[in-house]
Amino acid sequence: MDSYKDSLKELARPYRKAVLKALLLVTLVGATLFSSMNFLKGSYPLALVEIAMGIYAIVVYRAIRHTRHLERWIIAYLIPFFTAMMFAMATPRSTSAVHAWVLLIPIVSHLLLGRRLGLAVSAIYMGIAAVIFLFRHQDQPEMMQALPITNIAMISLCILVFSHVYEVTRETSERKLMKTAQTDPLTGLANRARLSDIFEREKHRAQRYSLPISILVLDLDHFKNVNDDHGHESGDRALQHVARIFRECLRATDLPARLGGEEFGILLSNTNSQQAMEVAEKIRIAVASTPLTISNNVIRLTLSGGVAELGSDGHTLRDLVREADIRLYTAKNTGRNQIIPALSPSATAAQT
Ligand code: GH3
Ligand code: MG
Ligand code: MG
Repeated sequence: MDSYKDSLKELARPYRKAVLKALLLVTLVGATLFSSMNFLKGSYPLALVEIAMGIYAIVVYRAIRHTRHLERWIIAYLIPFFTAMMFAMATPRSTSAVHAWVLLIPIVSHLLLGRRLGLAVSAIYMGIAAVIFLFRHQDQPEMMQALPITNIAMISLCILVFSHVYEVTRETSERKLMKTAQTDPLTGLANRARLSDIFEREKHRAQRYSLPISILVLDLDHFKNVNDDHGHESGDRALQHVARIFRECLRATDLPARLGGEEFGILLSNTNSQQAMEVAEKIRIAVASTPLTISNNVIRLTLSGGVAELGSDGHTLRDLVREADIRLYTAKNTGRNQIIPALSPSATAAQT
């Protein structure tokens, strides 16, 4: 569960929307100017395409205000926009200066589609533009010389490379920032924010495919004594030690998180409360039987916990953590070093 794809997509949405809006406004202004000029020049098909793009820009502008499918609208706009650009270039009566618009393709594609799709779309449309250019100017010997062709190819390539490098760097640093913002620095486990993000994602999946989800809340027993007896630094090492045991006991699809202090929450996808109980017992036994040795001092740790399951214990992360917490405190009050299971669905039904 180390993918930040969904969170990054979420983060990119407002800025992509702003870029798309700017592009739509530019289209509207361009369409008004160029369609009038082409109409006066007698280039009716091109003028009509430009008017159509202007109207489409208004439609898209209105549609994206509250859409949840911005990515689809971006594609639905860019493909006709670039295709209209190709049409303008291929129109024999259009000015050859229209080719300058090609330079917009890599910038806009990368800003709106990201590094992969941006590069693919840029390569396709710039390739088509190159073919149109060569086809249109094949009879003009002054254009078909090495110097002008190299100039145009180099400036196009430069803008493509810079746009791509910029987007790759931006996405990488955004991913790093996102990872830092969602990771507990001491243990390297997820923090509450990430647990909450992943819970929402897993909940949608679970609801769609009728899969169970459980939450474990675990708290180290008498941890204050570890700090008092061995020092705060050893306490920190003990927290890291426990985090390591969690990782060893869990599947790659489970998400252990530090909720704060010496309290942890573990999200178990595709796991009902009985299976969660088995996982919790495995962790409890592993922690209790794996003491930590720091400069000849043996630190013995135990933990207590509670289990809760999506559905029978509530529908939000807050509900599940609250129910698991109630069980955790029962565990604390009845001897520690134990896990209190969720009520079984039949027990819940009998209660109501
Ligand atoms: P209980 O079994 O009832 O949970 O007792 P406890 O001592 O574990 O609980 P209590 O809430 O009294 O104390 C928690 C301790 O955890 C106190 C605090 O100093 C320590 N602690 C919280 N965060 C950290 C941390 O990041 N590093 C270290 N070293 N200690 C921490
Ligand atoms: Mg504690
Ligand atoms: Mg605590």
